Amino acid sequence: MTYEEVKQKYQQHHLAFYRDPGDFACEPFRIFGPLYYVGDKRVCEHLIDTGDGLVLIDSGYPHTIHLLVDSVWRLGFDPKDIRYIIHTHGHYDHYGASNEFKRLYGCQLVISRTDAELIRDNPSAASGSWSSIVTPLAYIPPAFDHLLEDGEDFVCGNLSIHCVEVPGHTPGAMAFFFDLAENGRTLRAGLFGGAGLGSVRKCVLEHRHQPLSLQQDMLDSLEKVRGEKVDIHLGNHPDNNDTFGRRARQLAGDPDAWIDPAAWDRFLDAARAKFEKMFAEEAAEAI
Ligand SMILES: [Zn+2]
Repeated sequence: MTYEEVKQKYQQHHLAFYRDPGDFACEPFRIFGPLYYVGDKRVCEHLIDTGDGLVLIDSGYPHTIHLLVDSVWRLGFDPKDIRYIIHTHGHYDHYGASNEFKRLYGCQLVISRTDAELIRDNPSAASGSWSSIVTPLAYIPPAFDHLLEDGEDFVCGNLSIHCVEVPGHTPGAMAFFFDLAENGRTLRAGLFGGAGLGSVRKCVLEHRHQPLSLQQDMLDSLEKVRGEKVDIHLGNHPDNNDTFGRRARQLAGDPDAWIDPAAWDRFLDAARAKFEKMFAEEAAEAI
């Protein structure tokens, strides 16, 4: 695929979402213990009640901030109690609403040091250079308050998020691992912070002046976190972990719909196969 073809494909995919975001709203729900889903049908956002304030993982696009705020209220929380938004990676569909959220509710913004640099130094790579239909708000770099390092444990209240840098999808994407307790039972959640194909396509990397070595970084990152103990696999986008299939099973009465210790490595295997196929196709096209 050429860069223009990739751009057309993404713009088509997103058109209805930008035009009618309310069509992509979904009912917020509790996953396990203090962990809640507050995202929409396209982008995942998660809320955690730490016992000493709330932590939000990712904020979504600027044009869906009303869906996020509505979800937080509907769960019985106050957006003003969100102390931190911690970002999986520096793409506008995950940090786009953060500036406005901070302005309205006064939270602090957290991201890897590497992706804060990406957002500052390479806006087209961070905001998606095909996203000319996105509100200009996306292009205002968020004012980050804390920059994460690889291996850092980010603590708030009784929540401790172990942050592992998994470069590839962006140079500073992070995987998050954290314990959740419910009725004396403790389970570990895991979120791989960026596994989309688009941003590591050769033509896209070239267009955005990013190194082709991010392709190998992507494969290495999948290996870096293989074998982590993860009971609850969270998604960056709903198709990562069949968010809505699991939710449907939960609603149907399956108490373990979200508990699936094999899901993490299964996801990493599927991601590896997807990337290797695309890299092989690109190599064949180049001949
Ligand atoms: Zn992304």
